[in-house]
Amino acid sequence: MLTCTAPVHQPRSLDEAIACRAIHPFATVLAGGTDIMVYLEAGSLKPSSLLDLWKVDALRGITVQADGVRIGALTTWTDIAREARMPAALRDCARTVGALQIQNRGTVGGNIVNASPAGDSLPMWLVLDAVFEVRSWHGTRRIPAAEFWRGYKRMDLAADELLVGVHVPAVSGDVRYRKVGTRLAQAISKVVLGLRVATVDGLVTEARVAFGSVGPTPARATAVEHALVGRALSPETVDNAVAALQIAPLDDIRSTADYRNDVARRILRAELLALARG
Ligand SMILES: Cc1cc2nc3c(=O)[nH]c(=O)nc-3n(C[C@H](O)[C@H](O)[C@H](O)COP(=O)(O)OP(=O)(O)OC[C@H]3O[C@@H](n4cnc5c(N)ncnc54)[C@H](O)[C@@H]3O)c2cc1C
Repeated sequence: MLTCTAPVHQPRSLDEAIACRAIHPFATVLAGGTDIMVYLEAGSLKPSSLLDLWKVDALRGITVQADGVRIGALTTWTDIAREARMPAALRDCARTVGALQIQNRGTVGGNIVNASPAGDSLPMWLVLDAVFEVRSWHGTRRIPAAEFWRGYKRMDLAADELLVGVHVPAVSGDVRYRKVGTRLAQAISKVVLGLRVATVDGLVTEARVAFGSVGPTPARATAVEHALVGRALSPETVDNAVAALQIAPLDDIRSTADYRNDVARRILRAELLALARG
């Protein structure tokens, strides 16, 4: 049975939450708790105290802005899946996180800061050129997703900072999401792909390709992007782009490196060809 007797701080406003974080930088932040509860149950986390954000409504919700959309860190996957103003591929991603119970409770911020290499949303923030807003008592910093994850579970977030929101700019192009897991729901991914390709007059003007679950952090496949930009999305371009993919996945409990390598290439090819067909 799960027992945790650590004191819980429960701020009601964002200012209170930020002040609480400054006073208790070693408290474990709790959002939806869908990752934290697993660690508590397994005994791998023994918090000295918890900073429960769940009642901070200012951290919740989706706001359309002049230059894109702002997503509060406490916004759940169910909120994303139901929001028509979200890029369709991000809604697709939301629907693959766990199953409905997890989507109702699990948050965008929790997925980002948990920083699992298998976190389904992480490649999507990379291809959407998202910017993370983090706040402490000293002020606000905006960090491009591409600079946030520094290594396995290491990120650009200080002990006194909270992730407060994600800005998704109004980007051009078609966005795609593919997750390969053992089954459709409640599956930790073996390979995740985020893809965005913009074309003008038949030529690719912008490309973003990012994979998750194939390395210690989610990462953009920049060689693939370079193989696409400036070219027509022909079968030959797709072949060259797939050939340019360089990943070095690990064998682990969910999959072998060979399988991941093969699947990553197959889904990249399939999604690029689907885009080419329009
Ligand atoms: C059965 C099950 C299935 C799952 N399936 C998937 C899946 O398919 N795909 C997937 O990607 N994940 C999956 N997960 C993992 C989890 O549900 C997601 O990562 C979820 O988005 C985490 O959000 P949360 O609010 O519950 O995070 P929490 O557990 O509350 O927190 C996660 C981490 O982020 C930190 N944190 C949270 N919010 C903030 C903040 N605003 N500022 C600073 N730090 C913060 C916490 O301290 C903790 O380290 C699954 C989990 C379970 C239990």
